[in-house]
Amino acid sequence: MFDYLIVGAGFAGSVLAERLAAGAGKRVLVVDKRNHVGGNAYDHYDDAGILVHRYGPHIFHTNSREVWDYLGRFTEWRPYEHRVRASVDGMLVPMPINLDTINSLYGLSLTAFQVDEFFKSVAEPVDEIRTSEDVVVSKVGRELYEKFFRNYTRKQWGMDPSELDAQVTARVPTRTSRDDRYFTDTYQAMPLHGYTRMFENMLAHPNIKVMLNTDFREVEGQIPYGEVIYTGPIDEYFDFRFGKLPYRSLTFRHQTLNQERYQPAAVVNYPNEHPYTRITEFKYLTGQEHPKTSIVFEYPGDEGDPYYPVPRPENAELYRRYRELAEETQGVWFVGRLATYRYYNMDQVVAQALTTYKKITGTKAVRPPTRQPELAGT
Ligand code: FAD
Ligand code: UDP
Repeated sequence: MFDYLIVGAGFAGSVLAERLAAGAGKRVLVVDKRNHVGGNAYDHYDDAGILVHRYGPHIFHTNSREVWDYLGRFTEWRPYEHRVRASVDGMLVPMPINLDTINSLYGLSLTAFQVDEFFKSVAEPVDEIRTSEDVVVSKVGRELYEKFFRNYTRKQWGMDPSELDAQVTARVPTRTSRDDRYFTDTYQAMPLHGYTRMFENMLAHPNIKVMLNTDFREVEGQIPYGEVIYTGPIDEYFDFRFGKLPYRSLTFRHQTLNQERYQPAAVVNYPNEHPYTRITEFKYLTGQEHPKTSIVFEYPGDEGDPYYPVPRPENAELYRRYRELAEETQGVWFVGRLATYRYYNMDQVVAQALTTYKKITGTKAVRPPTRQPELAGT
């Protein structure tokens, strides 16, 4: 008899499995339909012996000391600051747009103060910032929006930035400095021996049993368990009762090249050329030394595994209906990027899972008085 059945061995499922087993002494069964743990953060050594991320580049960054310390129990870290270049007008320039981006693009030598003036002169005032178009044009104007954001977003999401919530492009800042890091979080690092090793350490507790290649539907009702923690797509859990929630997918094309380096940065974005959005060269991320190099191309599409919830008002509305159902469903906790339909980074999912753990154990502590003798047996 398991106390919990956990569906999904990604961050949401693995953090909860670890906490419930090690923190609360529960017996936990984790199932995943894939043949590995780690969810989308899974990494492995490819045929050439290079550590690659099967589902695209995963860079860990957080401002949360709690999340950092928690994961640090299961891995050592390798300090890593991520840098991205965008291919625009035949050049590879820093992305996020910064002082050097503008100077290279326009052949100028502006100072930080002058570039700030420049942004102000080209910015288009927007009354209320609602969409992903508003975010960018209100800061850097239409020309830079067209060069860096419009086409990338259309490719990545299959829709125009004006149809997406502000939060999508707001992930990428604009800078007047020369700082060319993709993230500015306090903690930025990669698990020293990879994500998969970190997940294996989390799941190594004797109270945790992991079943791979197993869909939730195969074990539902077949194995005795108490409560369920579900980290798959929420619409699928409810058999698409209100219709399908859109999730954007990607096809990853991995390649190993007979050369030590392929490109000048970990990631190069291609807003305006090619059907793929970006190319990642993994050795930058991992620091691995190897005479060959492995890269991955990302081709967005609607068909395939669900990777991104699509943030726009009608989807939020549809999700709200599923969430109401979820709230009425006793004994099932919905956690993670797919089950709560949120465009969350890894650290946000870890934080959400840790909060859920507190809720679960807190709920237990203040449960209705089932232990009162007069209620026993009723
Ligand atoms: P998942 O990792 O999706 O895990 C869910 C698991 O549930 C999956 O393994 C799935 O197989 C399993 N499952 C689903 N349904 C069933 C079922 N019916 N039965 C059994 N198993 C089931 N975040 C960052 O912080 N930094 C990054 O650089 C970054 N890069 C990213 C790049 C890409 C291309 C993508 C797609 C995401 C990226 N993320 C990044 C986000 C990160 O992947 C997620 O925040 C995180 O992996 C979500 O964890 P999760 O446990 O919620 O979901
Ligand atoms: N984006 C863009 N051009 C870029 C980089 C990002 O238009 O060169 C937009 C695009 O809509 C993308 C979003 O900003 O989906 C968020 O970018 P991020 O790099 O955070 O995407 P993720 O790594 O989550 O795929």
